[in-house]
Amino acid sequence: MAGEPVVLVVEDEPAQREVLAYNIRAEGFDVMTAAAGDEALVAVRETPPDVIVLDWMLPHVSGIEVCRQLKMGAETARIPIIMLSARSEETDKVRGLETGADDYVTKPYSVAELLARLRTQLRRVRPATVGERLEYEDILVDLAEHRVFRADVPLTLGPTEFRLLTALMERPGRVWSREQLLDRVWGRDIYVDSRTVDVHVGRLRKALRASDAGDPIRTVRGAGYALG
Ligand code: CA
Repeated sequence: MAGEPVVLVVEDEPAQREVLAYNIRAEGFDVMTAAAGDEALVAVRETPPDVIVLDWMLPHVSGIEVCRQLKMGAETARIPIIMLSARSEETDKVRGLETGADDYVTKPYSVAELLARLRTQLRRVRPATVGERLEYEDILVDLAEHRVFRADVPLTLGPTEFRLLTALMERPGRVWSREQLLDRVWGRDIYVDSRTVDVHVGRLRKALRASDAGDPIRTVRGAGYALG
């Protein structure tokens, strides 16, 4: 399941947690679950998810507190959080959003609506997983047709190079470590030597320069790679 977006579902009601996890998995996303606030904080630290669906009412550490802590953390602040709450009062919604939640859904909610909200958040952080195409300068990745163009010239890329380029193009300018690229492109469960990343970046560079254009991939010494 390389590169699937990871959604963390935090909900203490087992039945609700299972329904959510089931439906989110059915969308093709990877799901992690937590039944309590402190458990969620540990899970995020161990495996940062792409989006968090967070119930407000949780035992011990409340959803609001989890949200506040994650939004204050340098490493976790940018992970979108969708708050779930049985409270429908406007003041609660405002309070939820003030804590830094990116969206707020009132229970009872329709699963279809929640999935739509989830896709909206994923479009921000993982555009390649919900969009049709990615563009960076003269490079175009057509995700639906699995094709890559540079300055309108079609390029031939292997499947690994395609996924590598897609990851880089989701966030131009971001510096990726080899380990982060391994997780994103090869998957978290597969053991691959980090030098393999260098080999495939080399192949990707070669393919991208086939049309005599410049090298858009930057090697950041001691850190990894970035696009632009
Ligand atoms: Ca609850």
